[in-house]
Amino acid sequence: MVITMKLVKTEDKLPISYPSEGAAGKTGTWRLERPIVNNEMCTRCYLCEIYCPGNVITVDKEGAHIDYNYCKGCGICVKVCPKNAIKMEPEEE
Ligand code: SF4
Ligand code: SF4
Repeated sequence: MVITMKLVKTEDKLPISYPSEGAAGKTGTWRLERPIVNNEMCTRCYLCEIYCPGNVITVDKEGAHIDYNYCKGCGICVKVCPKNAIKMEPEEE
């Protein structure tokens, strides 16, 4: 038996669940640091979108975009970006 897997990628979003406001409200308010993407350095490899535990990154032809309503500032996107295109900056009060 041959088992094949393929990653289905639509033009806009991966076929996975995305965050929405729940009992905890907009969880982006928990964030102490904010990831900032330099889309001039982004090669649209999708790694940040794949590894973000909150599924709050969308990569399109312009680069990576973060939904700050739900990004908790964990910094995983910074670690996985092979181009160092994402930096953390202190969240403004
Ligand atoms: S800091 Fe964490 S939650 Fe926010 S975009 Fe990066 S990986 Fe996702
Ligand atoms: S991991 Fe870095 S290079 Fe890859 S899509 Fe995200 S921001 Fe762009």
